[in-house]
Amino acid sequence: MLRPGDTIGILGGGQLARMIALAAAPLGLRCHVYAPEAESCAFDVCAARTIAAYEDEDALAAFASQVAVITYEFENVPAATAAFLAARRPVLPGPRALAVTQDRLSEKDFVAGIGLPLAAYRAVDNEASLERALAELGRPAVLKTRRFGYDGKGQAIIRPGDEPAAAFERLGRRPCVLEAFVPFVREVSVVAARGTDGTVAAFDVCENEHRDHILAFTRLPATLEAEAAHAAAEHAARIATALDYVGVLAVEFFVVADGGRERVLVNEIAPRVHNSGHWTIEGAEASQFEQHVRAVAGWPLGSPKRLGAIEMENLIGAAIERGPAILSERGAHLHDYGKGEHRPGRKMGHVTRVST
Ligand code: AMP
Repeated sequence: MLRPGDTIGILGGGQLARMIALAAAPLGLRCHVYAPEAESCAFDVCAARTIAAYEDEDALAAFASQVAVITYEFENVPAATAAFLAARRPVLPGPRALAVTQDRLSEKDFVAGIGLPLAAYRAVDNEASLERALAELGRPAVLKTRRFGYDGKGQAIIRPGDEPAAAFERLGRRPCVLEAFVPFVREVSVVAARGTDGTVAAFDVCENEHRDHILAFTRLPATLEAEAAHAAAEHAARIATALDYVGVLAVEFFVVADGGRERVLVNEIAPRVHNSGHWTIEGAEASQFEQHVRAVAGWPLGSPKRLGAIEMENLIGAAIERGPAILSERGAHLHDYGKGEHRPGRKMGHVTRVST
């Protein structure tokens, strides 16, 4: 258990690390951010920084010696880095959460293995297994690389008439999974925290709208039948418990209309704080970032109670230039991540509107 004044080490220096550090400060904790990029936006708000590669063992050892616990803002922390650090300090969420979620196939096997619903899928390693998988799952189907996919990167839809080998080629002939196409009516997610004592505190289910594969809006309350919302929260808790998880995680779901009733299918697990939880900073009694800090510190979780009707809008690329106008809007909370230069598709900030 951490004591006030202790330091949390964070791997990764983007906006998620920045918002974790901002949440740690009022609890009397410091953050030391470790990131390879000198321009990392989390550096502006942390007590200490290390600029070094994730393979730099001298830098990792020095970092570990200066922090009480280590967490991360992205799931692609190299396994060797996590193992090296875990030999020196607690790494939370633990190595199992990383190992399961870094690979889409192991993640889907895990989700299926604990009995939760998900789209049908097959492992694909070459053209022959792709042909077999397509014959079994039908078209359209979605081919995804097993590793390093995010915001729609590393994905290809194979429709009737498409040449499957071309899609496999486009993804670099890397190990993939083929997933049945899900005719979803909506996408929702559950962000939940699990403490060291096993307590789970889930935020309300939120509804997510993507544009160009990037989250554009999160809204609450979600349009979702009560039974499906209850199932989504239960599934997220089951995943957290089965991973013996400590910290905040997000589970994304597809909502399908099945014989007139809504059902949720697990799409993806993120072993970290998540963009669809940014609304909790002003929209819940304790934010996802505060919950994460409390959890990795070994402290009691706060209340995830929602405080009103919410809309969170991502400010992507040039949209950040609307910042000054947003500031004059009553009830709007602007977050500019301080990244400076905007580029198309880059997450520059967000705004949360809460109405009570
Ligand atoms: P993912 O990276 O797996 O979350 O996928 C990114 C987005 O692609 C999802 O949010 C969906 O909008 C879409 N997508 C992914 N998989 C499927 C699928 N099996 N069926 C339909 N749409 C999908």
